[in-house]
Amino acid sequence: MSHTSPALEIARTLVSYPSVTPVDAGVQDWIAHRLERLGFTCTHLHYGEVQNLFAVLEPKANTNTAKQGRHFCFAGHTDVVPPGPEGRWTHPPFGAVVTGGRLYGRGAADMKGNIACFIAAVEQYVETYGPPCAPLSFLITGDEEGRAIDGTRRVLEWLDARGPEAMPDAFLVGEPTNPVCLGEQIKIGRRGSMTGHLRVQGKQGHVAYPDKARNPVPDMLRLLAALDALVLDEGNAHFEPSNLEITTVDVGNAAENVIPGDACATFNVRFNDLWDAETLAPHIRKTLDEAGISYELDMTCSGESFLTAPGPLTEIVAAAVARETGRTSALTTGGGTSDARFISRYRPVVEFGLVNETIHQIDEHVAIADLDTLTAVYVRILTLWYA
Ligand SMILES: [Zn+2]
Repeated sequence: MSHTSPALEIARTLVSYPSVTPVDAGVQDWIAHRLERLGFTCTHLHYGEVQNLFAVLEPKANTNTAKQGRHFCFAGHTDVVPPGPEGRWTHPPFGAVVTGGRLYGRGAADMKGNIACFIAAVEQYVETYGPPCAPLSFLITGDEEGRAIDGTRRVLEWLDARGPEAMPDAFLVGEPTNPVCLGEQIKIGRRGSMTGHLRVQGKQGHVAYPDKARNPVPDMLRLLAALDALVLDEGNAHFEPSNLEITTVDVGNAAENVIPGDACATFNVRFNDLWDAETLAPHIRKTLDEAGISYELDMTCSGESFLTAPGPLTEIVAAAVARETGRTSALTTGGGTSDARFISRYRPVVEFGLVNETIHQIDEHVAIADLDTLTAVYVRILTLWYA
């Protein structure tokens, strides 16, 4: 690999900052300086212990061709998940080692590599065409892999408070969306996520005297069987069927001669746009009520489902991906949640980035060829968007 790759050079620098949520380690300052060289105005937004960056490149003041409704924003996160047990990595997690045509390191694919492609693409675009005819911005957060409370959500509130002019008109989130090859999948929505904590209260006692105790385990099993049998829907044109998974069942009982005092279970529902938190929670309670067993249930929704309907944004991204990768992407809504769930409350958003095969794993890596192709995709998106 002897050719120079601007995206690789940027990605290596980004990966070398150990920015495990919520630590920034200086990575956003580095990005801000790099963008300021191109004429971006950078605002650092600190909320709680989280650092965020909003950078915008305004069109030249005397441009009378400025286009309304054409402010495009690249969105992403500089925080990474912890590297895991020391010594398990073949190459140091923040060493940014390049070997065998790949860049290794925590965040290489999720998602510093993608941010490097954003930057390389914007540099190439501005060097070739000059500043675009409408604003172009970056929304970078340090709180995506964590609780996602003081990150993208807060920056959007800040933008919203500054008035409709300030809010970008369309967003591309650079999450790694492709299972194996670049160009397979563009995400145009996501399922919602709701977690339930279920508890059945019994009465502890000796197994030899069951009449003096009340065993919560059979009741819990009946409730869980009812949940497991629940068919929420059949899915629709853009979404798979909603799904409920039981994730833990706990009685915490270390003794074989004791009837436990209570039983707990946790389940998670990934739901499509046929449901929201308001309709799903009562439906689940009704299902449990029908079992005729008394229980306690807490349900929390960490994100509603959303869908960006096919339109100019999805068409431009799909066209750019097809042109540069030679693949026709599926427009999907699968996978976990991302910060796109916050953006979708304000503006159309799609997600397209690198291959996600090794994200959050030991030896996370990305193909250098993919960094170059993704940069070309992003340049193509900019030329189509600002045409
Ligand atoms: Zn990510």
